[in-house]
Amino acid sequence: MKWEGNRESDNVEDRRGSGGGGGMPVFGGRSIGIGTIVIALVGGWVLGINPLTILGLLSGGGMPAQVQQAPAQRPPADDTMARFVSTVLADTEDVWQRVFREGGGRYQEPRLVLFRGATPTACGTGQAAMGPFYCPADQKVYIDLGFYETLKSRLGAPGDFAQAYVIAHEVGHHVQHLLGITSKVDQMRGRVSQKEYNAMSVRLELQADCFAGVWAHHAQNARQILEQGDVEEAMNAAARIGDDALQRASGGAVVPDSFTHGSSAQRQRWFHTGLKQGSVQACDTFSARSL
Ligand SMILES: [Zn+2]
Repeated sequence: MKWEGNRESDNVEDRRGSGGGGGMPVFGGRSIGIGTIVIALVGGWVLGINPLTILGLLSGGGMPAQVQQAPAQRPPADDTMARFVSTVLADTEDVWQRVFREGGGRYQEPRLVLFRGATPTACGTGQAAMGPFYCPADQKVYIDLGFYETLKSRLGAPGDFAQAYVIAHEVGHHVQHLLGITSKVDQMRGRVSQKEYNAMSVRLELQADCFAGVWAHHAQNARQILEQGDVEEAMNAAARIGDDALQRASGGAVVPDSFTHGSSAQRQRWFHTGLKQGSVQACDTFSARSL
């Protein structure tokens, strides 16, 4: 991916220097057990949205009215990985601003938080072991950059464009939040069976994959960011984090009813649909007869 020299976002909040998860006995420092990560991944947390419910449980229920926030701090200039994330975020801002404007709306930019180990969010305490996630309540994307090592080494999805896809997917959740889609799905929780709720979660996640593709489509048209092999990197990542692939990798049985993000083939298909078509309308996973 060609990104060096492109604009960096002003919406990155670097919390890595402020003690990170230092006070956390379990997730402190970099000593996250790989077992925990694997369990969290299989639990459907990879690129998860919605810490609203589960994070609420973890932190003792209820959402904090006000989240204490350290003042935003920009990442250091010599931190290539942070600069990369910041550049990708800026690119999503440019694309979605245009897409919203052309649709007669206004795009509100999300913020992106870099953290280590654990960090407070409006959705409860965010843990690195959950993988990157988006919290609708504070409109922030959270990522511990250590996830990229997991993505490359444990999940077999290397490459900078695979890393960009992760950010674009989370920003896709922000777009869903702005469009009111997330809250509609949330309202169904508890009113439908777990199986039905999982099925809706899959449609939500596949739409976020499709929106990631929409971003790539417009970024390519405007800035020619793609290099040889980039699309394959994203398609490979989409496959590696499919629910069936994760369940198989954990040595367990593949149980489609328990899927929350979609199968490898579905994730690839919807990312590719967004990439080819470049429109929000093409990403209507909720009306799609077959995913
Ligand atoms: Zn997601």
